[in-house]
Amino acid sequence: MGVLVLVCALLAGLAGCVGSKKERPTVVVTTNILGDLTRQVVGGEAEVKVLMKPNADPHSFGVSATEAAQIESADLVVYNGLGLEENVLRHVEAAKEADVPTLGVASAVHPLTYRTDDTEGQPDPHFWTDPSRVRKAVRIIGDAVAGHVAGVDKSAVKAQAAAYGKKIGQLDAWMKQRFDTIPKSRRKLVTNHHVFGYLARRFDYAIDLTSGKKKATGTFKEKPNEITGVATE
Ligand SMILES: [Zn+2]
Repeated sequence: MGVLVLVCALLAGLAGCVGSKKERPTVVVTTNILGDLTRQVVGGEAEVKVLMKPNADPHSFGVSATEAAQIESADLVVYNGLGLEENVLRHVEAAKEADVPTLGVASAVHPLTYRTDDTEGQPDPHFWTDPSRVRKAVRIIGDAVAGHVAGVDKSAVKAQAAAYGKKIGQLDAWMKQRFDTIPKSRRKLVTNHHVFGYLARRFDYAIDLTSGKKKATGTFKEKPNEITGVATE
């Protein structure tokens, strides 16, 4: 323990210690999906605050006033974008206006556009079901952290991003190998939500969206007969 830290520790109970006030840089991340990636990239180089709680719905989670203030005072904001985290994006916009560096990951990984129903032509935010795009996202997050967050060890961040990207590359290769054991004519994916569009594209699946598709989350309870019909075709 350094002398200054020791002195601070001794004084902490009295009036705080100005010498210890230097706070770690903070990266604020909207979704827990991006939070996982960002934590791997950042390691111990900065504080990573993830706003979405475990098991929350990325489309509908909200933030407290305190969290909104954290977004606007972050050293970097990592968000999904393309309309995903609907209740948080206005705070991200406010952060941009306050000159906080922000990284919209989905738009940076060549998003697909929806090809069915009334959302046709709009960009699809669910890029994380394609591991090759996740690998790209990891690299981009590493570049943003190294480029915008003062005080981090840039080479450590880039090395962490590269190492994690390599793991995802291995996962991608394994998934492809496994999916390739299924004949292409039988690769039909039945879902009630758009989330698997990227996975389907990456691994040559045809998507069958059921009538529950416009709901952000939920189960197949709406049309069980429809699911069974598609699944047995
Ligand atoms: Zn979704």
